[in-house]
Order: sequence, then C-alpha cells, then structure tokens
Amino acid sequence: MAGLSFKHIYKVYPNGTKAVNDFNMQIEDKEFIVFVGPSGCGKSTTLRMIAGLEDISAGELAIGDMVVNDVEPKDRDIAMVFQNYALYPHMTVYENIAFGLRLRKLSKEEIHRRVTEAADILGITEYLAKKPKEMSGGQRQRVSLGRAIVREPKVMLLDEPLSNLDAKLRTQMRAEISKLHARLKTTFIYVTHDQVEAMTMGTRIVVMKNGFVQQIDTPKNLYNYPGNKFVAGFIGTPQMNFFEGTLLKKGEEVEIKFEYSDAKITVPYSMLYKARPAYLNGDRKVCIGLRAENLCVADKADKNAAVIKVKISHKEELGNQTLIYGDINMDGDGYTESATRIIFEARGETDFRTGEIIDVALDMNHVHLFDIETEESILPRIPEYNYVDCEAKGGKLSFLGNEVMLPPAINCKDCKGELLIPTDALDFGDGIDVNVVSCEEINGKNLVSFEVSGRRMFAVTPEQVKEGKAKVEIDLKRISVLSGGETVIESMPQTSCLNGKLLKEKVEETVEEKGKTKKKKVVKFFLGVEDAKLDAPDEITQKLITAIGVKRVLDEPLRYECGPYDFRFAEEGITAEVVEIADYGKEKFAVCKVGENTVYVLADEQVSGTVHILPDIEKLAIIQSKMDIRII
Ligand code: ADP
Repeated sequence: MAGLSFKHIYKVYPNGTKAVNDFNMQIEDKEFIVFVGPSGCGKSTTLRMIAGLEDISAGELAIGDMVVNDVEPKDRDIAMVFQNYALYPHMTVYENIAFGLRLRKLSKEEIHRRVTEAADILGITEYLAKKPKEMSGGQRQRVSLGRAIVREPKVMLLDEPLSNLDAKLRTQMRAEISKLHARLKTTFIYVTHDQVEAMTMGTRIVVMKNGFVQQIDTPKNLYNYPGNKFVAGFIGTPQMNFFEGTLLKKGEEVEIKFEYSDAKITVPYSMLYKARPAYLNGDRKVCIGLRAENLCVADKADKNAAVIKVKISHKEELGNQTLIYGDINMDGDGYTESATRIIFEARGETDFRTGEIIDVALDMNHVHLFDIETEESILPRIPEYNYVDCEAKGGKLSFLGNEVMLPPAINCKDCKGELLIPTDALDFGDGIDVNVVSCEEINGKNLVSFEVSGRRMFAVTPEQVKEGKAKVEIDLKRISVLSGGETVIESMPQTSCLNGKLLKEKVEETVEEKGKTKKKKVVKFFLGVEDAKLDAPDEITQKLITAIGVKRVLDEPLRYECGPYDFRFAEEGITAEVVEIADYGKEKFAVCKVGENTVYVLADEQVSGTVHILPDIEKLAIIQSKMDIRII
C-alpha cells in the first residue's frame, strides 16, 4: 500500500515527441485513479513510467517514500495488467497465476495460499486446472488480474484491461474491478479512453489531452465544474451542447443572446459574479455549454423557464433514454456537430416530425461558459482574478468606493481602467472594509466570497475566514491595471529568470589518505548561473545528467527561475546592476539587471550600483530552455 508523488514529470521520446509535459500530482494511498483522454494523449506513457517500462525524461516519481526514477521495474512493488492478457498458453490457469511467485522463489505453501485466495476473490477457482484457450475473454482477464494480485503489490496498474471485452462483459468487469479495489485496499491506477469507465470507477480522474493534464478531480466535480471546454465535452454522454453567444449585463441581470438564433435568455447577474466584466459587454463572443439533461420540451418545464426555438431533425432511442436532435438555427440540419446543433432528452413526448419547430426550455442554473479562443471556463470554480473598475489619480487608486495610496514603486498616469487583483493576493486582517458572505473549502483551498460596496469579490486563503464584517489588505505588488488596451500598472513578476549551463572542472582538493594530507585533482560540477559558478549539489547534477544525457549536458542551455524572496546579497556571486529600488511600502525590492534579464531581489537595506546576488539553490527551478522541460 502506498501513495505516489509526481513532480514535474516529462517524457520525451527519442524522436522528439513530448508525450507527457509537466505532470504533477499527489496520489493518496488506496485511491482509485483513472487516467483518461483520447488516444495519444500520453496516458499509457505515464503508466509505463510508473511501472518502470519507460524512462522518465525529467522530474521525480516517488512510490511511498522512495524515489523510483532509477529503480528497476521488479523492485517497484507494482503489478500491471494489460489489455492483451498475455497469458502463457501452455500453462494452466493455476500455473499462470503462480508463475511470478515461483520466479520469486516463494514456498509452495505460500504460492498455493495466494493462488487459491486470488482465484476465490475472482471467482475462477473451478478453472484453475484449465488452459487459457478453454476460457472466455472475461475469464482470461480475471486470470491476468489474479496474476497481478498474488504479488500483493503496493500499486496496481491497469492499462485498458477491458477494451478486448464485449460491452456486457465490460460493464460486469468494471463492477468487479471496483469490488476488487475495495477488497484489496491497494492504490489502483487505471488507464482508459472510455469516459464512462473513468466516471464509474475512479475516486479521482486525471483528464489528459496532447500530453498535458487538463483537470484532476472527482467524477462528480469534473461533471459539474469542468475547467475547460475539452473536459466539458469529454465527460458525459451525450456530449455537452456547445453554442455561441454574447452576454450583456443590464443592472442585476445578464442577457444571453444565442448566435444564429433569435433566442435571448436572461439570467441573474449573481450567477456570473466570477466572470470578467469584459465578457459581459454584449460584443465578446463566448461558448455556451448545456448538457442534454438540462434541456427539455418547454411545456414540461415551469412557465418561467428560459425557452429557445428548435427545429427537430431526428431522434435516437437508447432504451432508457430518447435523445432528440435538432438545430437552433432554422437553416441548420441537426445532424452535423456545430455551434447550433442541439441534443436534448425527451421526457415522455417523443413523437416529433422532422422539421417541426418546438420550444425547448433551458435550465440556466446549469449553464457553462467558456472563452471562445482559450476554451477556459469563464466561471472557474476558483477564480484567479477579481476584475473591478478603477481610477488612478494623483498617486491614489480608487475602486468600489475605496481609495488606496499607491506605493512609490507604482508610477501611474491619471486614468480610468480595469484593476486585476489576484485572488491569492488578498490578506484578511487589516485594510479595506468588506463583508464576508461565505467561505468554501475546495480541493484543499479556501474560497472566500466577500462584498466590497455591494460588489462580489473572491479570495483564496490558506485559512478559513469567518462570515461577517472583515478587513482585507491587497498585496499591491501583485495588482495590474489595464487602460485603453494598455497595461498601465504591471504586477511585479513572481519569478525572475537567469541563464547558464552546467560546468565541469578539475579542481585541486586536499584529501586525507592513510593519515597523510595530499593534493588531488578531482572532477567537480558547478551550476553556471550567468557569470557565477555555484557548487552543484550531487543530486542536481545527477538529475541534469539523467534528463539531458551525459553527452549533451554540458552544452545544454539552462534557464533558472527564482522568486524575489529566494535571493540574497553576497560578496561573490552573480554580478547584478541595481537599476532601481521598487518600494512597495512594507517591502522593497532591488530591480537588478543581469545580462538581458531583470531580477527582483528583496532588499532590506539600501543597495545600489554593482552588487552580487546568490539564489537559494534549494528553491531554484532549472529548465532545459530549448525543450522547455523543467528538470528541477
Ligand atoms: P495514449 O496511451 O494516451 O493513447 P501514449 O502514451 O501511448 O498515448 O502516447 C502518447 C504520445 O507519444 C503519442 O503521440 C504517441 O504517438 C507517442 N509515443 C508513444 N510511444 C512512443 C515511442 N515509443 N516513440 C515515439 N513516440 C511514442
């Protein structure tokens, strides 16, 4: 039994394919995790890296407390089940299950105990003496599951184990694998391209696309709060309907206008508190997502429901469900997937004529909205920013009836604009008066919803915040202001970049040998960071060599990233030219030029001119610049 930790895992195949990019995740002991996504998204590669069947190009994978990057597959304490059961045809079921245990030289009694117990759990006791060819696909897959569970692994890996089975068996085996998980109390990691399998089996699901994780959450949360259009469309059958439209805020209501249709629907503004105001001006197109079950024939809905005209095309009988296809564009055909095609569930009434025009009611409480270009949700569960109108005047910034003094670091011409406040740049305690409306824990973070002069805002805090009156301070170095398409106040970068390479040198060291001190030449590695040479800890050198390869590691350009709190001034180090002091009031930062780069360094004292700075190596991120792969 063990959890797993993935830190910045990458897989680059020798032909240059980046199959997995910056995969980060913490899997708890006994979870049932499903990796799901279309073919080629990198799910099998990830599983194979866990198994040790593929090298990890960069990053750190731990099973339990042990980093396993360089651990042989057989020593990882995992067992893997594949799609093609890979049973030995000449051996009986018993021998197939016992095979691995015999190799590991377990006693006959222990092997017998484990095999009979596994056979019992899987209901294949009566087949133990048979050969695989005498068994059905489902039974063979049970044997291969048996072969995995007798190893009593810490982690069970399953790669599309059910795709060779017919639909009925798949459903049955799905339930059996879930039961097996509950019984074995082991961590399961399961790969599938089938979202139904993912939704029914996973305690959490990792949705992947093109080698990138799209979202990690419970089945219910993925369904209810998809973070982008891809996840919204991938999870759920039939696929979510996607339309195009615009949003126009009119007082406390927002009018949603559907493109290619006359439909206009009004929803309360409270549903759209998290949306950036720029989406609500009536001319920025958005993608509107609604699931089939949130739509129905209008006379079945209550009288106040929002209604849209639909031209019916055809229906699909699924037994338990009838899906009606149509188009909200009276010239559309209802067959082709488009921004106007609509699919909804019939509830009783299924007797429609092709071409008939009916009213369909939309349950807007379940609407999803996405940016047309980025496809990201514009109503994210945890918003990243608050967007409010503001005015900068005479070194002060006013917004929502409040006025704050801008610190000397922020120079801004007088203007009106949009203020962006990151939700994690707000601190409760001191500052402007607010009214906390709610505090909700979401995936380990606290989302605080509060009002400032009647306007809703959000904060993400490490601690819970009580409802009622409170004070909030804004971290002014994190804000930005846009005015007339220009950024007039830029937030201070949270990380600075530096360039360099790994260096190898022979250095003379004094060593003790047989009681005598001797001078000896030894090979040492250094992190070349701009003009400085920092001692490279062995662990870092090793990771760089493993990721880049011993031949290329010394030639490979590296990019270092470090936060403003993770540098110190020193006698020797990276030569930097202080160009100004960014004075944010409570904190001051030296703005340093290092070659082409600008580096921010927390500066307690007054510093100027040429200085030397040193990063905290522990906090340094090291990126292989050409491939954009984070190695450390
Ligand atoms: P999935 O399991 O999601 O279908 P894979 O992990 O098998 O996807 O593949 C991810 C990507 O890596 C794909 O683009 C695939 O073509 C590529 N790939 C897989 N194996 C190799 C390999 N041995 N060499 C080069 N590219 C590979």
